[in-house]
Amino acid sequence: MAIYTVFGNPIAHSLSPQIHQAFAQQSGVELNYTRSLTSQARFRRAVAEFFRHGGAGANVTVPFKQQAFELVTYVTARAQQAGAVNTLVPLGYGQLLGDNTDGIGLVRDLQRNLGQTLAHRDVVILGAGGAARGIIAPLLEQEPSSLIIANRTEEKAQILVEQFANSKLQACRFYELAIPTGAIVINATSASLAGEKLPVAPTELAHATCAYDMVYGAQPTVFMQQAQQAGVSVMNDGLGMLVEQAGAAFQMWHEGAELDTQKVIQEIRERLVG
Ligand code: NDP
Repeated sequence: MAIYTVFGNPIAHSLSPQIHQAFAQQSGVELNYTRSLTSQARFRRAVAEFFRHGGAGANVTVPFKQQAFELVTYVTARAQQAGAVNTLVPLGYGQLLGDNTDGIGLVRDLQRNLGQTLAHRDVVILGAGGAARGIIAPLLEQEPSSLIIANRTEEKAQILVEQFANSKLQACRFYELAIPTGAIVINATSASLAGEKLPVAPTELAHATCAYDMVYGAQPTVFMQQAQQAGVSVMNDGLGMLVEQAGAAFQMWHEGAELDTQKVIQEIRERLVG
C-alpha cells in the first residue's frame, strides 16, 4: 500500500490523514497516510528516510515549509514564489519535487464562498508571515484591483511588497490601515490561535464586505467575532482552505483524480463539531 505522511511539529492535531483518506476513498485509491513528528535538526534526515523506505509523497507543515523549500531538487513556480514547500513528490533517484498548494487552496475556497472571482476586488491581507507569503502570488493571479498587506511589524510587510514587485501591492501597519469599501479581508496572522484581537479599528473593518480567517478549529475565531461585531459578513474559517490545499496536493500525487472537496469539508466540519 502506498505510504504518505505529513511532517510537522506539533503534528498530533493535524487533520491531513482524515482528509487524504477521504480523497482516497473518493478516487478508489488505497493509501496509508501518517503523521510524522520531527525537529528542525532531524527534518532533512526524516524526509530522506521516509522516501528511502518507499514513501509515495509527503506534506510539510509548520515550522518546516522553508526548510523543505531548501532541501528539494526542483520546485514548482508557485513554490518558488512562496519560498516555501508544503508538498513533496518523489521523482526517483533520491530527487524530490517541491510544490506549494496553500495559495491555490485559499483562492479556491474564497471563490467558492464568494460565489465569484476576485477579479477587480480590493483584497486586504492581515499578516506578513509564511502564510501571507504563500498566498500573495495566487491572489495577484486573480487580478484584484489592489492587494494591501497590513502587519504589526511593518518592515515584514514592506519586504513582501518589494519581493513581489507588483503595482497593486501596498504595505502598512495595522493602525494605518485604510480598508477600501467593499474589500475582502483575509486574516493570515496567527493572532486567533492565541485568542488575541487584531488592532484594526471596528470603523475601518466595517468598510469590508466580507472577512475570512485562515485559522481553523474553534469557531467562531476571535477575528471572526471582531468582524461580526463590525457588521462584516464572515465566511467560514480556514478549514476549506486546508481541504483545498490537500486536494491540490493529492492531485499532484494522483494525476487526474476528481475530488469532491466540498463533501470532505462538510464531513470534517461535522466531525470537529461532533
Ligand atoms: P508566522 O509565524 O509566519 O506569522 C505570524 C503572523 O501573525 C505575523 O504576521 C505576525 O506579525 C502576526 N501575529 C501573530 N500574533 C499577532 C498578534 N497578536 N497581533 C498581530 N499580529 C500577530 O505564521 P504563519 O504565517 O505560518 O501562519 C499564520 C496562520 O495561518 C496560522 O495561524 C496558521 O494556522 C494559518 N494557516 C492556515 C492554513 C490553512 O490551510 N487554513 C495554511 C497555512 C497557515 P509580526 O510579523 O508582527 O510578528
